[in-house]
Amino acid sequence: MNILLTGGTGYIGSHTAVVLAEAGHRPVLLDNLSNSSADVVDRLAQITGTRFPFIEGDIRDTALLRRVLADEGIGAVVHFAGLKAVGESVEQPLRYYDNNVGGTISLLQAMDETGVGTLVFSSSATVYGQPAYLPLDEVHPTGATNPYGRTKLHIEEMLAELAASGTNWRIACLRYFNPVGAHASGLIGEDPNGIPNNLMPYIARVAGGRLPFLNVFGDDYPTPDGTGVRDYIHVMDLAEGHRAALDFLAGSAGAGWHAFNLGTGCGYSVLDMVRAFEQASGRPVPYRIAPRRPGDVAACYAKADKAADQLAWRALRSLDDMCASTWHFQQRTAR
Ligand code: NAD
Ligand code: UDP
Repeated sequence: MNILLTGGTGYIGSHTAVVLAEAGHRPVLLDNLSNSSADVVDRLAQITGTRFPFIEGDIRDTALLRRVLADEGIGAVVHFAGLKAVGESVEQPLRYYDNNVGGTISLLQAMDETGVGTLVFSSSATVYGQPAYLPLDEVHPTGATNPYGRTKLHIEEMLAELAASGTNWRIACLRYFNPVGAHASGLIGEDPNGIPNNLMPYIARVAGGRLPFLNVFGDDYPTPDGTGVRDYIHVMDLAEGHRAALDFLAGSAGAGWHAFNLGTGCGYSVLDMVRAFEQASGRPVPYRIAPRRPGDVAACYAKADKAADQLAWRALRSLDDMCASTWHFQQRTAR
């Protein structure tokens, strides 16, 4: 099937393109390159032996989307495109609503007009807000603690209403936990501009000597070692979750709106991650304890049973693989 990947040159989109191509699909990538580079298209060609069609464009350009959906014979859309920095979303909420919510409305209008009803949406565990219990299952109450999270929640709700309004829609919202790691080739991975906000790319730069030490945000949480606990998931496992979701949507149970957690179900602390990275890289990761980061929760991890039961998918890769592949990408390709 021809599958449009909005945000297809980004971190998760590029890994998913590899998996979809391996499953016999033809990925068509669309991205405005606001947080990625067109070099990724070359690297994907190196990995897969196929040069995927790439359109440099913005999801808010509805006419462009209509054209791409029709001209490329698109059968399904995987919608990654979006802005994702929590702190930035607090400072620039309008930009986030315009890009994420406005961009999704534009995409949905184009899909509606061209009769494409199958959509996989990149949602986030952030839609659960402050956890009321753990592990988080899909019926946990939703909430948002910042504008970024609220854009994801608004989009999910809009998608549920849309699916209820007609029979053509087959929509899966995939609630990612903490994606980390890289493709085994070391050619694609997460390489943020400037100082990373997220833990894994920060640790990788400390291990590589490009940053002096890690700030551990809080060691007084009610967790086994006092540092924050998260459900880190290898990006290749996550990518395979998209293939599984597309198969599910194509089947008899796929009509309507669905939400699935994509996580491992295991929680690791910040200090667990430091130790695992030191082991995988053979490099020290010096750290200092710093104050808690505003808005952080103590622990967040998934109950991943629904995806196992309904998508026949589960995360298989180890923490060591997450760290080793990050390190390999950092050494081989990261700027
Ligand atoms: P990313 O920034 O690497 O990829 C997103 C891509 O979308 C980028 O290449 C960017 O250039 C593109 N983009 C942004 N706005 C666009 C627009 N208006 N038109 C066209 N392209 C646009 O991020 P990622 O980590 O690959 O995340 C992909 C999706 O998954 C995002 O929607 C993000 O919110 C969601 N998500 C990510 C994480 C995470 O930790 N990485 C966790 C939960 C959810
Ligand atoms: N974290 C940290 N130092 C950093 C970045 C993150 O101690 O430089 C901690 C953070 O407080 C949280 C965990 O690492 O407990 C994961 O943070 P990240 O930003 O990667 O993901 P999220 O907050 O979205 O779960």
